[in-house]
Amino acid sequence: MKTETTIQGLTASLAPARNTKKMIGFVPTMGNLHEGHLTLVRAAKKICDIVVVSIFVNPIQFGAGEDFDSYPRTLEQDSRLLADVGCDIIFAPSVEQMYGSQPRLTNISVGQITDDLCGKSRPGHFDGVAVVVTKLFNIVQPDYAFFGQKDYQQLAVIRQFVQDLNIPLEVIGVPIVRAEDGLALSSRNGYLSAEQREIAPTIYRLLKQAEQSLQEGKALSEVLANISAQLTQAGFVVDYVEARQPNLQSVEQFDRNLVLFVAAKLGSTRLIDNLEVDFKT
Ligand code: AMP
Repeated sequence: MKTETTIQGLTASLAPARNTKKMIGFVPTMGNLHEGHLTLVRAAKKICDIVVVSIFVNPIQFGAGEDFDSYPRTLEQDSRLLADVGCDIIFAPSVEQMYGSQPRLTNISVGQITDDLCGKSRPGHFDGVAVVVTKLFNIVQPDYAFFGQKDYQQLAVIRQFVQDLNIPLEVIGVPIVRAEDGLALSSRNGYLSAEQREIAPTIYRLLKQAEQSLQEGKALSEVLANISAQLTQAGFVVDYVEARQPNLQSVEQFDRNLVLFVAAKLGSTRLIDNLEVDFKT
């Protein structure tokens, strides 16, 4: 496994694979890797000849007052984990390497599907994601790129601009990896105190309960309000509890598949989760 910190170095490392038409898989991350990230790498290994994992904490997707400075940077530990799952190349550029010293005048803004959910509470976040992921796609030029359904809205945004801008690669979505108690794995779980970590799985428990209630025919508005009330009671500050169609359009009738979305804070830690609810009998 090689680690490259410059675009030039990465391009040189990938040249033999590109010249021999090997399938290149790409997994973008912000590091502090856990089993969720490693599952993406394993999925990439299955269908690609060469797997590149980027580790880059992207400043432009963090808002003022968010955790850019304190975001965990654990490159040595990440490298060991990635070597174990057969990653071929780590791309770990500096901010300077990615953004240079000249001002950036170009933005990438995906409309409509970024208007609410996390887009509403984190203005500019998805523009920052779209810019860095497009830059990384242009640098790595992969055949396949792998993203987790944990960040469901992000995955939808990426699929959208890849389609709109004819970016020549295939986006693969990978199901959420959870801890045994149901908490969706996240680098931000490390911010939780022991007491908060005990409370955190309430989100998934309530999503599963809601799924059952909906399948039994309970009214959607009632089910969403109940999740919200129970989260508040458990000590969360709720950002949103929403239901959408899988394409993120609003739900007109809910005898079809829908996705439940939760974002809530425990102390200063913002947690997100989602659950696809299947109405097939
Ligand atoms: P991050 O490092 O948080 O930017 O995440 C990098 C990639 O890993 C994104 O595509 C995430 O959706 C994905 N990811 C993070 N946590 C999980 C998880 N628990 N299950 C599946 N994918 C995940």
